[in-house]
Amino acid sequence: MTTEGADARDGTDATGAASVTGATGAGERTAAGRGGKDFIRAMIAADLAAKRRDTVHTRFPPEPNGYLHIGHAKSICLNFGVAKEFGGLCNLRFDDTNPVRENREYVDAIRKDVRWLGGDWGEREYYASDYFDRLYEFAEQLIRMGKAYADSLSADEIREYRGTLTEPGRDSPYRGRSVEENLDLFRRMRAGEFEDGAHVLRAKIDMASPNIVMRDPVLYRIRRAPHHRTGDKWPIYPLYDYTHCISDSLEGITYSLCTLEFADNRELYNWVLETLGIFRSRQTEFARLNLTRTVLSKRKLIRLVEGGYVRGWDDPRMPTLSGLRRRGVPPEALHEFAARIGVARADNTVDYAMLEFCIRERLNSTSPRAMAVLRPLKVILRNYPEGQVEWMDLPLYPDEPEKGVRRLPFSRELFIEQDDFRENAPAKFFRLAPGREVRLRCAYYITCEEVLKNPDGTVRALICSYDPQSRGGGSPDGRKVRGTLHWVSAPHAVEAEMRLYDHLFLKDDPSGVDPGNTFPDCINPDSLISLTGFVDPGLRAIKAGECVQFERLGYFCADRDGGPERPVFNRTVTLKDTWARLEKKG
Ligand code: ATP
Ligand code: MG
Repeated sequence: MTTEGADARDGTDATGAASVTGATGAGERTAAGRGGKDFIRAMIAADLAAKRRDTVHTRFPPEPNGYLHIGHAKSICLNFGVAKEFGGLCNLRFDDTNPVRENREYVDAIRKDVRWLGGDWGEREYYASDYFDRLYEFAEQLIRMGKAYADSLSADEIREYRGTLTEPGRDSPYRGRSVEENLDLFRRMRAGEFEDGAHVLRAKIDMASPNIVMRDPVLYRIRRAPHHRTGDKWPIYPLYDYTHCISDSLEGITYSLCTLEFADNRELYNWVLETLGIFRSRQTEFARLNLTRTVLSKRKLIRLVEGGYVRGWDDPRMPTLSGLRRRGVPPEALHEFAARIGVARADNTVDYAMLEFCIRERLNSTSPRAMAVLRPLKVILRNYPEGQVEWMDLPLYPDEPEKGVRRLPFSRELFIEQDDFRENAPAKFFRLAPGREVRLRCAYYITCEEVLKNPDGTVRALICSYDPQSRGGGSPDGRKVRGTLHWVSAPHAVEAEMRLYDHLFLKDDPSGVDPGNTFPDCINPDSLISLTGFVDPGLRAIKAGECVQFERLGYFCADRDGGPERPVFNRTVTLKDTWARLEKKG
């Protein structure tokens, strides 16, 4: 690897770059999102124009200690997106330096999720654990340079010696060990001679640095735990700050994009690469995604899974990519979402309604219409011939009639939605009520003539009449009706489980909740409502993952829990668009 030396600028401030325009060509349109180029793309364009860099090489570096969530989608869209737009490359790198929390299941899930979002890493799938030998050699090099030492303080003592934001730290009594002694101790750490915590390897930088990260950070610790890839080979493991920059450098990463909480670590990132004299990758921070009603932290998401608050990592209520996928969210909606929220340096929280807006926008053009009833109420058409079946045409995409129709059986007995009938209806209720007439979507006008009741007084069925002149739902004589109801033919309908979802959290901002104690208090008890409804028989053939729009009910996605005998549908999102209204108001 070459050393970039003077070319590698410090800092993440893109203000200087923002004035540079017209440098990126093809990438510019997509890079711009909704408006100007974001500061990262502007910075890269400026670097390329000024020939400070000649390649764009990024990486997406998940730690395999959980499933990816929608915050990671922002990072994936950014890293893979930037690489693509500037004709560069993006690596997938597993940052697997903590054997206790990481495993193969997570690795596999992450690969699947990145691929689903369209991330293409070619052959460049890397693991920090692939670099353990190199990292070890670099550590010995730092020791020989007098830039690292073996410390024998306990973790608590190290914390105590570190000082605070207002007080400088104090030197460890072991800071003055000779190079020979340090090398000997480090080698014996590696050989497995010591218990966990007996010693650590620390960088020798400055215990009085105003940046606490620079106060002799720990580079290696003893952890006698097997690793999912390297097995029992290593009793010591490198820490994130030391591993990440060297991994970036070894892979020739030119732009190391990470979230804001690493801003203070940038100084250490640069120190390691500069001290070792290896290729200077450049770290730039951006604001992480926060979403209302959602926690985005693997640590908290694990608690939801392990605490049984959800049915697993891919529960459709989870903000994980696997959960969103199972719920029916198409990857294109997440790309659109990422483009809309953009990339900036200021922290903010995005309204969940904006995500739903992006989902609806995408599904509207890709989900064929179908009919289902969530809470069935039987309707008997008194004057419809017994045994007769007619086939009604429901346009698959009402705005694009050329795309065809779905054929729905219609018969004497139907199901409509319980909500669509009221016995004592106010004047403004435009659905069905005794004596009132409505249209059945793409079928007939019907009028309610009689209400049949159960012994307990609840409504059992409605006796209605239909107007044979209104076939297809058109008015026979200019007679107007206000309401149009969805329906399914009772003898043909297929029973289906309908899973309706709401936010998992009751609070708009659940980020502060302590997952240990307060989850139960702020979990929405009605986040999943499971109903037994009916769907049109054509949907027996639907495959898990396919989406439809049930007329008036929302977008639904077939779940793998179902089958032809009893399909299961997840409601991806309702039809009601709160975001468009919010946007208008604001
Ligand atoms: P978590 O707190 O959920 O564990 P993390 O940052 O520890 O998140 P990593 O697996 O280390 O998770 O993250 C991989 C990449 O995704 C990092 O570059 C990280 O900055 C980015 N990332 C993680 N969460 C978000 C988020 N909410 N918004 C944007 N990027 C994120
Ligand atoms: Mg992490």
